[in-house]
Amino acid sequence: MADKLISRRDLLKKSAFWGIAVVVGPALLNGGCGSDAPVCTDTAGLSQPEIAMRTANAYVDRTPEPAKTCANCNFFESRGESACGGCKVLKGPIAPAGYCRLWAAKIA
Ligand code: SF4
Repeated sequence: MADKLISRRDLLKKSAFWGIAVVVGPALLNGGCGSDAPVCTDTAGLSQPEIAMRTANAYVDRTPEPAKTCANCNFFESRGESACGGCKVLKGPIAPAGYCRLWAAKIA
C-alpha cells in the first residue's frame, strides 16, 4: 500500500514538469511551426527561368542562418511582417524569414 502512494517529492516533480509543459509547449509549437510566418513558395505566375533562378540560389522560406534573413537583406521589399514581400533580384513571393545565397546586409 505504501508503495502506491505518491511521495511529496514525486508530486512536486510531476507538477513542475506539467507546469513547464503547459507554459512552454504552446510557445514551442507556435515558433516551431511558424504559424504567423507566411508561406511564400507559390511560383505559379513565374516563368521557368525565374523559377530556376530561385532554385539556383537556394531560396527557402525559413533561413538556415538566423542572422541572415530576407527581412535584413538589402534586396528585400517588405509588405509587412506577416505578408510575403518581394525581392529586387529574385522574382515571386519572398518570406521575411527566408534566405537565399544572394543575401547581402541591408545598407542603412
Ligand atoms: S536576395 Fe535572397 S536573401 Fe535577399 S531578399 Fe532576395 S531572396 Fe531574400
